[in-house]
Amino acid sequence: MLPRRSSRTSAGTLSALEGSSAESTMQSSKRPPKKQQKIQNADLPETSKRGRGGKLRKLTEMPLDILFEIFGELNPFDVLNLARSSKALRNILLRRSAVSIWKNALSNFSGLPACPVYLSEPQYTNLAFDRHCHSCSANTQDVYWEYNIRCCSNCFNRLFSRNPLFNKSISSRALVDRVYGLLPALPTNRRGYHVDHVRPNKEARCLLDRLEKLQNDETGLNQFIEEQRSHFQQVKAHARLCDRWQSEVARQRASELNEIRKRRKEAIISKLRDLGWGEEIDNERGSYRRSRTLLINHPLVRQPKELTERIWNNIKPTLVELMINKRDARLKAEWGTRVSARIRMAISVVDAFIRPRYTDQWFPDSVDFCLIDEFRALILDPSTDDSTVTEASFKDIESCIPDAAGRWRLSQSRSLLELLPERMNEDATSQTDDALTRLELATTFFSCKECLGRDMVPQSKNKSAKKKEPHPITYSRILTHNCLNDPSPVDDEDPNFEILSRLSIQKQPWHLQGDLVKFHRTASIIAHNVVTACGKDPAVTTALEMDEQDFRVECRRCSKGGNSRLVMTWTMAICHSIECHSEKKGGSRSWILLDDDDAKKVKVLEAAQVEEGKHQLFKDFRCTRCGRLQSKAGLSEHLRYSHAILRPAEEGDFSKHHDVPIYRPPFAVCLNMEDANTNADD
Ligand SMILES: [Zn+2]
Ligand SMILES: [Zn+2]
Ligand SMILES: [Zn+2]
Ligand SMILES: [Zn+2]
Repeated sequence: MLPRRSSRTSAGTLSALEGSSAESTMQSSKRPPKKQQKIQNADLPETSKRGRGGKLRKLTEMPLDILFEIFGELNPFDVLNLARSSKALRNILLRRSAVSIWKNALSNFSGLPACPVYLSEPQYTNLAFDRHCHSCSANTQDVYWEYNIRCCSNCFNRLFSRNPLFNKSISSRALVDRVYGLLPALPTNRRGYHVDHVRPNKEARCLLDRLEKLQNDETGLNQFIEEQRSHFQQVKAHARLCDRWQSEVARQRASELNEIRKRRKEAIISKLRDLGWGEEIDNERGSYRRSRTLLINHPLVRQPKELTERIWNNIKPTLVELMINKRDARLKAEWGTRVSARIRMAISVVDAFIRPRYTDQWFPDSVDFCLIDEFRALILDPSTDDSTVTEASFKDIESCIPDAAGRWRLSQSRSLLELLPERMNEDATSQTDDALTRLELATTFFSCKECLGRDMVPQSKNKSAKKKEPHPITYSRILTHNCLNDPSPVDDEDPNFEILSRLSIQKQPWHLQGDLVKFHRTASIIAHNVVTACGKDPAVTTALEMDEQDFRVECRRCSKGGNSRLVMTWTMAICHSIECHSEKKGGSRSWILLDDDDAKKVKVLEAAQVEEGKHQLFKDFRCTRCGRLQSKAGLSEHLRYSHAILRPAEEGDFSKHHDVPIYRPPFAVCLNMEDANTNADD
């Protein structure tokens, strides 16, 4: 049994109760957890490992004074473990005469506040140096010195509560308050913001019982309360010292472990440097210190355990593999940065070259040049030296831009040619590059899946709810059509993936997806009829010729023989027919070519549209900086708000562009025959 010092327990039954909790733990912990057992065995002499019945028993047969002298050198933790290791040792160590062993052990541990009068040395040792919850044996560092208990958070929540006397009858309310006044309250959460204060259930009930018994004896009651008050004052003062000591010990321990970790880290780093991984290690210097991917944060490195040769040999393969992966990732990232930088250089050189030439020459978007052989080769140059490929390298090859643009146009035109219907190939000019002239015919139109809904022929107000036709796009427009440069997902199997994946997210090379452009059959049929009505041969007449002739045609279906004739250009006729009629092959009689006189009158009316402001909405300008299409009116606003340009100049800020829809001014006009005659008389 524990040497209970009855003379010291005079402070009251309560103290005795507290003492017994420590005592009972000593008994219940006869079988410590495995890990503890291991440490304990390691601490004992080699021979003792054979078991409780072996040499350990011999130890207990030694003369007590020698045994005490040996034990006197131990630290409190060891004495505690010894007392738990066998019944015989326990009996020796807990006898009254052995108290000097505990005292010695405690005094060997500097900084620990002296054993308080209300605890025996073994109880105090158990409280301060055990590592387990006194209630459930779980590992814990939490000691509640005010109540002499070490317990885990689960047990704490069970043993303590905010109002431990909640169920007691209301008649003893005054006594309950006195109990609460005496028992020190503990904060529930030492670190958190929201803190409750709690008191131990069992102690509160004991104390209340005592007070109830003394209820009718006022002198006894007051005396008891006074005793308790001074006892808890003592307890609280001591608890403060112990808390301070405990956090100091924890701090010291943490810094010791830190030192060990640091030594291990440095040892590993120096070993890895010897193996030639210095560059990777230096490369980590600027990284975010807590990043889990860092070598110094690797679980094998960040351990509070000295690095021995044996440990090093065990962890070496894993760490070397880690370094290999790091090097590969670094090289890959550097390559990516290099490619991105070269792409930017290429685009800026091409932009600078084509900007002044854009109005009178034709170029694909600067992004497209990244995939053109000469530029591609420079961008993907395998040299790892950043001075090999510079902006000057791209400048050196800029003279190839016009030629490259021509080659690009040719190859894209060939792919467009494949979209034309079979029967057109039966024409006389079927083979070789002559075939490309078919693209320029007035009957060749394409559609873009991307802009099916926008940039459209306006839907008619009430006429046929026919299926929506996409906007017809001419050959000269489709090659610069803006939305075919819109970004789309990049296939990682693509041979140009290295470049494509690093382009700006705003633009991609032309028609990368390859399935957005289709031949516009309806527009082609209408064009065939309009061209025929104009007396031209649809098989050879080009769109350019039609534009130059500047014909005006009348829609016979809208005129219906009245005085009012609806007249328009040949391209507007295509838009109009898509919008309002359904056109059949050979329907050239739907269109009437206007004679020169009438055409002149129409052009006068068209000129009046300019004053009506209809042209204002037409987006025929292109912002040089972002490539966005703008109307004349929208342009200055766009430049001001998007690029902070207050006085735009056509040179450099905007230009006419090639991506012009055929639905453009002049719009259809109504030629009233009477008006026309009056005008003619004038
Ligand atoms: Zn517990
Ligand atoms: Zn489009
Ligand atoms: Zn019509
Ligand atoms: Zn812009």
